Amino acid sequence: MKNGRLAIIMLGPPGAGKGTQARMIGEALGFPHVSTGDMLRESLKNGTELGKKAKAFMESGGLVPDDLVDAIVAERLAREDCNRGFILDGYPRTIPQARFLEALFEKSGTRILSIGVEVGDDVLIRRLSSRWTCPTCGKMFNAASDPGKAGGQCDECGTVLVQRKDDTAEVIAERLHVYHTKTKPLVRHYQEQGSYSEINGERAVEEIFGSIMHKIMNHE
Ligand code: AMP
Repeated sequence: MKNGRLAIIMLGPPGAGKGTQARMIGEALGFPHVSTGDMLRESLKNGTELGKKAKAFMESGGLVPDDLVDAIVAERLAREDCNRGFILDGYPRTIPQARFLEALFEKSGTRILSIGVEVGDDVLIRRLSSRWTCPTCGKMFNAASDPGKAGGQCDECGTVLVQRKDDTAEVIAERLHVYHTKTKPLVRHYQEQGSYSEINGERAVEEIFGSIMHKIMNHE
């Protein structure tokens, strides 16, 4: 791994396992995990101005307007814990967001490595509809492979697991549609910049993690 500030961008559809991998990579490298979805859900829970503005977009599976998300990302990345590098999970999600980020990085001399975790839509729908999340530590569980987790407790901290409101069939369909039309063009964008690597996300969590770490350690 080269010296200098590194932005690791996790690309891929909802349910691809970006959040799980981002958390693991962050721990391995000592980089903060910056998830716009988590930050927005926190604002919603706390009833902030941002939360009020974002609520309807999030509940319908649409995207929150770029300017709102750009502002929280700029503020988060300016903090000291991002000085060496960070993992972006769920951002950028549109080409204008990617351009905003590039303008930000030009000033700070940050390198980009984007990792696309690829998973087919049929697998995503199955995963998302059986996903249970810990509201305290963010760890995710799959009730299809681990039935005790439906309404059960988190392995790490014992909190009762919850299902995300946007993990219902109708909202999942909309989120996948939004991914294919608005976010997937980012793959081309980063390919053209030579900073894109694709990973097969239909494998065991540890295997995917190994492939991603290999890309990070060997990238120029
Ligand atoms: P996630 O947890 O990444 O699936 O995000 C949950 C929801 O938050 C999305 O369906 C969007 O409504 C919103 N969201 C998260 N990140 C972004 C972003 N970069 N741009 C616009 N909306 C976002």
